[in-house]
Amino acid sequence: MSECEGMFRCPICFMPMKMDQLKSLICTNHHCFDVSRKGYLNFLNRSPKTKYDKRLFQARQTMCQNGFFEPLIERISRRIKQESGTKKQRIRILDAGCGEGSLLSGIREKVSPHTANGLLSVGVDISKEGILAASKAYSDSIWCVADLAKCPFANQQFDFILNTLSPSNYSEFNRMLANDGTVIKVIPEKNYLKEVREVFYGHTPRREYSNEGTVKHFADHFDLLDMEHVRYRVALDRALIGHLVRMTPLSWGATEERLQKMLDMDSAKITVELTILIGKTFA
Ligand SMILES: [Zn+2]
Repeated sequence: MSECEGMFRCPICFMPMKMDQLKSLICTNHHCFDVSRKGYLNFLNRSPKTKYDKRLFQARQTMCQNGFFEPLIERISRRIKQESGTKKQRIRILDAGCGEGSLLSGIREKVSPHTANGLLSVGVDISKEGILAASKAYSDSIWCVADLAKCPFANQQFDFILNTLSPSNYSEFNRMLANDGTVIKVIPEKNYLKEVREVFYGHTPRREYSNEGTVKHFADHFDLLDMEHVRYRVALDRALIGHLVRMTPLSWGATEERLQKMLDMDSAKITVELTILIGKTFA
């Protein structure tokens, strides 16, 4: 982490930062942020209250480790390998809104052996619980608790910024992307987890779901090069159905009875349908 100190900037005054005895990062105006004993950096003095708790992140980690997002990880990794091609320098990836870190770690595992000079992977999330779970499970990335609106990184630090099923901050993404850097944003499609929705909310048709606004907003900020559609179904057993229920915010609006109905299922086939937006900074 200390060899990467030049990557950071103070989220309060934007000045450069230095590592102090591997215990904290201090800016030239003496704003100080601690390195936790678990090895992550905390750039927030106060963590906001959120329904994304430890149980949710643990469930998500279990789902990921059982391959729930494997085809997505495969597609993103392939794209990163293509884009970075013959790049001689170290490849730097930021996962903005990384949650419990499984996606970034899965991508790191696939991309890393194909790089000439290594890979730096950094995950940032506003949830301390998410980052704590990430730092416990995966030690080869740098994990930071921070607000996406005030990212603690200097300008043009990353070749890739990932943003998966999570809110964005495009002005910050633009600021942090290196020349010719790539943004990879994953958004849900109409049929994403549709079987879960059917159990939780019945068969009443959901209002027509459209990503048009999201795609347009993305294209306003980046040169939209490509949209990759990913669709697959995953067979889950009873235990994994339980983890799926715990990992999805969809369950927050469901009645106890509907939740139980899902938890009582012995098996289920679940649809994952997503679109990957690939963008570059405008020249
Ligand atoms: Zn400062």
